[in-house]
Amino acid sequence: MLGLYLHIPFCAAICNYCNFNRGLFDAAVKERYVAALLAEIARAADGAPADTVYFGGGTPSLLEPAEIGALIDACARGWALAADAEITLEANPETVTRERLAGFRAAGVNRLSLGVQSFRDEELTRLSRLHSASRAVEAVGAARAAGFDNISLDLMMWLPQQSVADWRQSVDALIALAPEHASLYLLEIYPNAPLRDAMARGRWSVAPDDAAADMYLSGLDRMDSAGYVQYEISNVARPGRRSRHNMKYWTDGEWAGLGCGAHSTRAGVRWHNVASTEEYISAVAGGRSTAVDRRVLSSEERLEDALFTGLRLSDGIDTEAVKTRYGADVWARHGGELQPFVDQGVLLHDGGTLRLTRAGMLIAHEVMTVFIR
Ligand code: SF4
Repeated sequence: MLGLYLHIPFCAAICNYCNFNRGLFDAAVKERYVAALLAEIARAADGAPADTVYFGGGTPSLLEPAEIGALIDACARGWALAADAEITLEANPETVTRERLAGFRAAGVNRLSLGVQSFRDEELTRLSRLHSASRAVEAVGAARAAGFDNISLDLMMWLPQQSVADWRQSVDALIALAPEHASLYLLEIYPNAPLRDAMARGRWSVAPDDAAADMYLSGLDRMDSAGYVQYEISNVARPGRRSRHNMKYWTDGEWAGLGCGAHSTRAGVRWHNVASTEEYISAVAGGRSTAVDRRVLSSEERLEDALFTGLRLSDGIDTEAVKTRYGADVWARHGGELQPFVDQGVLLHDGGTLRLTRAGMLIAHEVMTVFIR
């Protein structure tokens, strides 16, 4: 089953750490963009079966419920969208009210992913986020009142000036709201992020590496105790509430990306759309292809992808499935380089499976380099 990803590149303000494909909201550009997206959907749709739609951004909740509804309807016309499709909207707390959320729900959205990032106001201010902790709590209440029974909350750790105790406070606040799913990310500050200047001006620093490891491990321990199950490096869920859409990225699935900068992978071919919003709108309007960098993946690349993404999952890599699908014996190829990780106790090799321990997930990138040939 195909997953459909729709990129909405608008934000009410640009956060000082953000490296996504986004720009400032402009109502006129947004209207032209939604029209282009509808046109791209009509052009790209091939009737294939699909069971997820994911509105990512940017801040998709800046669109009107009627616009989200029109985009979902277009997807349902163009693909064989399953009756129980998971339809996710990423939302920022400051953009939602109970009425708007009820509108999104009525339009067909059945899963809400709220970008909370922290439940401590001083941390939100340092990140230049527009919402407060109490606004995030209100947004969850409004979402429940609007009928959402599948909510995911995002938190970030290793924030400037954040202590391990501060981080645990946010995790506990998240647990108190009882979402069905949570994503716990380590903040990575890219080289030219405005946050770096803000940190220099404010003399803010981040905790040492061992404290970051403590944040990760203790945060996940708390989620375990609250009944969540970790299924990916940064993701936990109540039983049956994994993100079906994101699982496609991690289990060798197929997805069609629509909108500027959106990536697609289908039948061993990978491409992405032009990143610029205006170039995208103009390509669609002019009947030109929006795709750039279209290429057929080699069997070696497909195998590498399967190993990389498999290692992200708590279930790990099913080496028998890899052998069947790619004809590759993972241990024969990489066992020599993987053995030291097994000896350290961060990688478990039990015949049919290769998986990282939770502590191993902290050094996942180091382990993954073994798979690059
Ligand atoms: S709201 Fe999200 S996408 Fe928009 S600028 Fe902030 S972090 Fe980036």
